[in-house]
Amino acid sequence: FLLLILSGLIFVILVMLYRRYHSTSIIKFLMLNAIKQNHLVPYYQPIIDAEKNITCGYEVLIRWETKKGKVILPDEFIPQCEANGVITPLTFQLINTVARDIRKLEMQHGKVLPYYFSINISASVLQDPELIDITRSALAHYHIAPHNIAFELTERSPIDNIEQAEHNCAKLNAMGIQIKLDDVGNGYCDFLALQKLQATTIKIDKIFIDDINSLAANTIVKSLIAFAEKAEVEVIAEGVETEQQAKILTDLGIRYHQGFLYSKPMPFDSLSNDKNFNV
Ligand code: C2E
Ligand code: MG
Ligand code: MG
Ligand code: MG
Repeated sequence: FLLLILSGLIFVILVMLYRRYHSTSIIKFLMLNAIKQNHLVPYYQPIIDAEKNITCGYEVLIRWETKKGKVILPDEFIPQCEANGVITPLTFQLINTVARDIRKLEMQHGKVLPYYFSINISASVLQDPELIDITRSALAHYHIAPHNIAFELTERSPIDNIEQAEHNCAKLNAMGIQIKLDDVGNGYCDFLALQKLQATTIKIDKIFIDDINSLAANTIVKSLIAFAEKAEVEVIAEGVETEQQAKILTDLGIRYHQGFLYSKPMPFDSLSNDKNFNV
């Protein structure tokens, strides 16, 4: 009888292992294929200097455009890519695609763009020594100035090798590439990382902007602003959707805004038609 229970248990464990392996390998296969076929494409969302009412940069937000024309949002596949390591080739390809897009825009307009294009970098990629060479050769290959590229690191996943991340960021900084800390307030509140990685900007998470009318969120935002002033870092408010929010944020002293109020993320071809695109 005991033997029966034991073999039943072993069977269940084997089935679980198989299903787990199978599903991770299928998504891995699909993602690697999507990379190879250039189905992972950058969209661009303007970041606005609300004081001057001009665009000062773009956040690069990846989309998966399937063969059937469906657009899949990053929350549906980035966590899996982070878990199975595909995030590294994905990001390295994205860096090249963005550099190529910047080059195209510069050729169209006949000048170096004043904008930065801020690419989301997962913690594991920020710690990858190869990141430096990939970035450097993308800049060189497409003749891009370093101020055109920035990296933003989410606070939501921890950095496990802070020394290596620090080392990479020092090199990026020396190259003239800025580091921004993303989703601030909605994660580890990693002020140590901010300091060690020499980040120049904090992006205040949308949850506080949504709730900016509440005393709690308002107080948190105010203290982040006070901190940023002391630390001499810039502040971007994420997820600004209404004029009323924009006004409150401006009154609080937040100069840089990003959100649907100004523009949704758009594909490359719409970029230079955008009302904010003005070089
Ligand atoms: P994130 O970096 O915090 O990016 C901001 C997200 O908020 C984007 O969602 C953007 O479309 C959305 N957003 C911007 N303004 C508004 C607004 O006014 N209202 C609302 N409701 N949403 C707004 P998206 O594009 O779905 O990206 C989700 C997350 O996926 C990103 O959050 C980022 O963490 C991750 N992600 C996107 N692209 C990449 C990538 O290339 N690499 C990595 N590692 N992560 C990425
Ligand atoms: Mg981001
Ligand atoms: Mg963000
Ligand atoms: Mg966010």
